[in-house]
Amino acid sequence: MPANNLDDSLSQSLKSIELLFKKTAPIITRILERSLEGKDLSVSQIINLFLTKGVDYEALLTVGNFLRKQTVGDIITYVVNRNINFTNVCVKRCGFCAFSRTADSQEGYHLPLEEIVRRSVEAHNYGASEVCIQAGLPPNMDGRYYIQLCRAIKKIIPNIHIHAFSPEEILYGSKQSQMTIREYLKELKDVGIGSLPGTSAEILDDDLRKQISPGRISTAQWIEVITTAHSLDIPTSSTLMYGHVETVKHSAQHLLLLRDLQRNSGGFTEFVPLSFVHTEAPMFSHNKQLGIKAGPSKSEVLKMHAIARLVLNQDIPNIQVSWVKEGLVDSKECLNCGANDLGGTLMNESISTAAGSLHGQLVRPRDLRRMIRDIGRIPGRRSTLYKLIRRFDSPETDGEDPLDKLDSEQQKLLGSYHELIKIDRFRFSSKKILSSL
Ligand code: SF4
Repeated sequence: MPANNLDDSLSQSLKSIELLFKKTAPIITRILERSLEGKDLSVSQIINLFLTKGVDYEALLTVGNFLRKQTVGDIITYVVNRNINFTNVCVKRCGFCAFSRTADSQEGYHLPLEEIVRRSVEAHNYGASEVCIQAGLPPNMDGRYYIQLCRAIKKIIPNIHIHAFSPEEILYGSKQSQMTIREYLKELKDVGIGSLPGTSAEILDDDLRKQISPGRISTAQWIEVITTAHSLDIPTSSTLMYGHVETVKHSAQHLLLLRDLQRNSGGFTEFVPLSFVHTEAPMFSHNKQLGIKAGPSKSEVLKMHAIARLVLNQDIPNIQVSWVKEGLVDSKECLNCGANDLGGTLMNESISTAAGSLHGQLVRPRDLRRMIRDIGRIPGRRSTLYKLIRRFDSPETDGEDPLDKLDSEQQKLLGSYHELIKIDRFRFSSKKILSSL
């Protein structure tokens, strides 16, 4: 790449990369050079990157950071949002999921429609621009429940962005209501859904899916929901879950599948690598899977973010690090090897918390900004669809978001997952989920 097309700091970084290339293995040098030239990588080239060590590994992370800076600059974005996981009762039994409960479990909860709306209004009053809604698949659910839910929220808060329902939930809603996926998504769009989370992907390989989550949405069904959503102008995020039984070949193929889907539809807003949280996961604690890993190592996490940058840079330029999965300290390192987004404030996080994640349920905007400045970057608040709402150039002029004012005692008023599963009035009852319509 000609250095005269780059600003000073990029030219400096490129010189450091060239020095590193004097020490890297020739095969890795060639792959990294291809990435710097904007060329596509093959499955075998990506596998080689996943296997890097020592100076090759260091060069991979450095190139990831260089491409991040060149493509999206120094602003690290976040969204002010609230997660609402309205029920943990689910008809499926995914081996990695510590969140789901059976309908007769004493820990099965379900938030009534009015409570979901109340939490959305509360989030809006705290400055949130988005509610992110995902949950278990309750038995005998009225298929139109998700549609009613969006309608009820939009009626009270028309300008909130609803980022809701994984492809698994869309498939369930459409089956329960005997509608096609297209008809179902169209109705959701008509009642104001803004985007879908691209979760329930894990690894898009059916043999592996049968091992870790028999009965889960298939690869073809996941692709059908996502591509149908994109064709209706409903954007989605994209994800990958790693650090369990997958091989690096599975991860490489998954990344290339996402890249190719994006080239056809352009509907992915971001890519989010999700570390497997093993602590409470049934397939780990019950030893159901031989050879299962206890989540990725730190170097595997950093590699994944760097490789995602190299593979997806031209097509999905936003690589998000999940602070819920990685914690605040390691998230900063991910931002130094390819990631450019910190996700959301969340307010209530249940799914990773249930799995044993200890990184909390809320990070206030001012804490996210502090983290971003710690590594010399510029914080930026964004919308769900990556429109920059505000750039924060100096702490002196930041002002205070309503969420910033919450001290730790006040944060407890938002409620926590561990309390939620014990509250009698939210105990799951299939009658309630039907009568709330
Ligand atoms: S991952 Fe989703 S579908 Fe699978 S068991 Fe958990 S809540 Fe149910």
